[in-house]
Amino acid sequence: MPKQEFQTEVSQLLQLIIHSLYSHPEIFLRELISNSSDALDKLRYLTLTDERFKGFTFDPRIELELNETLKTLSLADNGIGMNQEDLIAHLGTIARSGTKNFLNQLSGDAKKDSNLIGQFGVGFYSVFMVADKVEVISRKAGEDAAWKWTSDGKTGFDIEPAERATPGTTVLLHFNADGEPYANAWRLKDIVKKYSNHIAFPIFLTYDKSNWNEEEKKSVTERTTEQVNSASALWRRSKSELTDEDYKELYKSLTGDFEDPLVWFHTKAEGSLEYITLFFIPAKAPIDLYQQDYKAGVKLYVKRVFIMDDSRELLPQYLRFVRGIIDSEDLPLNVSREILQQNKILNSIRTASVKKILSELKNLSENDAAKYALFIEQYNRLLKEGLYGDFANREALLDLVRFKSTAVEGLTSLADAKSRMKEGQTALYYITGGAESLLRTSPLLEIYKKKGYEVLILDDDIDEIVFSQIDTYGETELKSVNKSSTSDDLKDETEPEKSEQTQPLIDKLKAILGDRVKDVRITSRLADSPSVLVTDEDEPTLRMQQMMKAMGQ
Ligand code: ADP
Ligand code: MG
Repeated sequence: MPKQEFQTEVSQLLQLIIHSLYSHPEIFLRELISNSSDALDKLRYLTLTDERFKGFTFDPRIELELNETLKTLSLADNGIGMNQEDLIAHLGTIARSGTKNFLNQLSGDAKKDSNLIGQFGVGFYSVFMVADKVEVISRKAGEDAAWKWTSDGKTGFDIEPAERATPGTTVLLHFNADGEPYANAWRLKDIVKKYSNHIAFPIFLTYDKSNWNEEEKKSVTERTTEQVNSASALWRRSKSELTDEDYKELYKSLTGDFEDPLVWFHTKAEGSLEYITLFFIPAKAPIDLYQQDYKAGVKLYVKRVFIMDDSRELLPQYLRFVRGIIDSEDLPLNVSREILQQNKILNSIRTASVKKILSELKNLSENDAAKYALFIEQYNRLLKEGLYGDFANREALLDLVRFKSTAVEGLTSLADAKSRMKEGQTALYYITGGAESLLRTSPLLEIYKKKGYEVLILDDDIDEIVFSQIDTYGETELKSVNKSSTSDDLKDETEPEKSEQTQPLIDKLKAILGDRVKDVRITSRLADSPSVLVTDEDEPTLRMQQMMKAMGQ
């Protein structure tokens, strides 16, 4: 088969990786190991669920072989493997549409970009930071043919038939000048420890080890194989055995993020259901958060066996920024995706997990204001999405979400706003319908200002839809100032007696405005402005009406 060209995005990404990740070239190893680990997970899953693989003996392992003289490193796994089509699709294109957006977000500033890339997960192509030739020899489990993919990471790749005795994948790197430092066993061991210590499978390194021989009084070199990671499911240990460093390291090896997580919650549930959850909240919101094809961040394990990491069923969508692990004792190993969707056990775990995450966040807000502020900076909007969809946890979410306000600098909680309510004030008020500056100067606020009542400024574009559904916070009413009728506490002032003097003006305005308005009323809501547009109590607000119109309703 003739040489094949990389998809344009792949070439772009390759360029980018080489130019902005040069400060962390060692991550190539983490990426390769994580691919092998994924491939082993996939095959293990098949041996548990697929009749064709039931008899398969499976001794999962990842083997690194270093040749210091030739400056090559091979990394072999006995995982699921790839056939010819897979090689072309996975190592020649970028399937996820999020990548395009990702590429557009890059600034050209190497430092910023390398952070972005870290979050995005550069994947396989990072090998070209350290290698000028890469060969991938692979055989898919259940198939007889093996294939070799070869590329210099510049123009494209070749694929030809090859030999491989057993299923799995071998990646052979020929180090370039930048990669030469990695043709060193100590260096490689260090990197594996740093990034891949908790990969669930054993990683072996074969290399020339020099030992001092006492009898011969000289150093002898022997080919040696050692296991270089601890391969322990760290989340299964008790909290007291684990240090902050352990958690941070596990987080990084799970997610590929360079930054430490903001917080983590580790729970062991015992009782009618047994399971362990370890959830991390990234310091920076994952960049694909608002993309259709976002990657779900929680991995499901059953009795330490990886089941899947792309299920969106494990947590509700608004918690899609959460990373981590759910490890259940009770689920059957061969759960299929379809079963998962209506599985009672998983449902209970999911419900408890959401409660846990929300209550831990509440603790954080009470005990570490600075950290909580960082959380809000990244995720306030997601909490609002939760308010829209997660009815069962509405009160908990209302406690967590933060608002701009006329009463304080920065942000406030509803609880604090409630504690500031004035005597006679019967509701918490908020204004929606545009940008912050517009809302802050709205004539609608005048009467509240006069009374000294606080008004929350809801300037996020989803606020209107979210809060139009929410009438109370605990016992306290939540009211939009955009609506015509107001609470009892403002009634006297908003509806003054119609007088003989004003009636002719009203009649005239009504005649001019015709059916563009429903009614024209005298109000004393206003102090400085002559008029204001409001919406009837039981109708969608003006902005909602505009949005509905735009959506063709
Ligand atoms: P990601 O791992 O995020 O999907 P990568 O660039 O690291 O992206 O890998 C691309 C794809 O190539 C993987 O999704 C997988 O399908 C395939 N792949 C890579 N390495 C292996 C391997 N060792 N065994 C089987 N498939 C692999
Ligand atoms: Mg990968």
